[in-house]
Amino acid sequence: MNLNNLPDVTKKIWNSVATFIAGIFSGQAKERRCNLCGEVNPVTEFYKHKNHKNPIGECKACRIKKNKPYCRIFLVKNPEYNALMNKKHRERKTELQREYNKRLSNKLI
Ligand SMILES: [Zn+2]
Repeated sequence: MNLNNLPDVTKKIWNSVATFIAGIFSGQAKERRCNLCGEVNPVTEFYKHKNHKNPIGECKACRIKKNKPYCRIFLVKNPEYNALMNKKHRERKTELQREYNKRLSNKLI
């Protein structure tokens, strides 16, 4: 074993590892294996992490399948939250419609 070559080899290994990791974490990797179904999908089929913006471990289909029961259970357990959200959504929609109508009438005059 030649000790003189060791730093170069270490550097090479480090570079390849660093490139591999950077590829995964910078979102440059075009495909990714889902942690739940094990299928390889394009990264567009994965949601992005809210902090570091990298694709998360589960594909969208698995994520939805996983979260849907919890979502439904939550809404059944908290009907007042559901009602509140529906009310907020309705109010926002009305507000947007009013704004749109105003802009439209301004344009027409
Ligand atoms: Zn999946």
